[in-house]
Amino acid sequence: MTKSVDDIARGDQAGDDQDPVHREQQTFGDNPLEVRDTDHYTHEYVGGFVDKWDDLIDWKKRYESEGSFFIDQLRARGVETVLDAAAGTGFHSVRLLEEGFETVSADGSPQMLAKAFSNGLAYNGHILRVVNADWRWLNRDVHGEYDAIICLGNSFTHLFSERDRRKALAEFYAMLKHDGVLIIDQRNYDSILDNGFSSKHTYYYAGEDVSAEPDHIDDGLARFKYTFPDKSEFFLNMYPLRKDYMRRLMREVGFQRIDTYGDFQETYGEDEPDFYIHVAEKS
Ligand code: SAM
Repeated sequence: MTKSVDDIARGDQAGDDQDPVHREQQTFGDNPLEVRDTDHYTHEYVGGFVDKWDDLIDWKKRYESEGSFFIDQLRARGVETVLDAAAGTGFHSVRLLEEGFETVSADGSPQMLAKAFSNGLAYNGHILRVVNADWRWLNRDVHGEYDAIICLGNSFTHLFSERDRRKALAEFYAMLKHDGVLIIDQRNYDSILDNGFSSKHTYYYAGEDVSAEPDHIDDGLARFKYTFPDKSEFFLNMYPLRKDYMRRLMREVGFQRIDTYGDFQETYGEDEPDFYIHVAEKS
């Protein structure tokens, strides 16, 4: 049976508590603020949080607020093949397949990929081509060259060391065709670090009655708490990337032109947007 985006947003959790993959719980140990480790994401996108992720991001609202921004960026460059490197539960992969792009969906969390695969199937019967791969060793597990790589939903912020960030960007660069494009987004951490947190939740985390708020912020850690209507709470530990630092890294890895948009707009005030989107061209 084909499901609508609403059905997918509600989630189909029948039998999940029988399943060891869904039973695994988030673990941050005795001192969660000490967890500043790139490898830890595989312990964060597990169990109940994976099932709740689609409530958090609300596919339908996200579809409406993004509009055709990413599709337009890709079409303007004649893109045909896309690697969705942080596929998560498959929102962008499904969108790209619907729009006719040849898409491969990679992620380092097998639980997220399992959910992406079932979401794809439920949404017009798309068979996602999923690959379990960490960005730092992407070329080992994903093959071929792509016109575009996307890494969206504030994913890159899971890398905690500069070495890991450079390695991931180098892997992306190597997998792109000579004129390929990389699109990475990130939360506006400059504003959070400099002015404190405020979010209209308009663009990404648009789920009704779901809150996403910082639990702790310092120069090396942005720990966010996600609270759901059933009072369940989950956390993500992320690195608060500054916008200009991120742009510099992409330039240093070899990208020639980097355009940064704020909440899908070309112009923005320095502390206005919730999210920045970097569009980096290889040539
Ligand atoms: N792009 C999806 C979205 O927008 O809904 C998912 C975003 S979620 C915040 C971040 C995703 O990045 C997770 O699915 C996580 O498993 C993945 N991820 C984090 N670090 C990774 C790494 N080093 N290699 C591969 N995937 C990673």
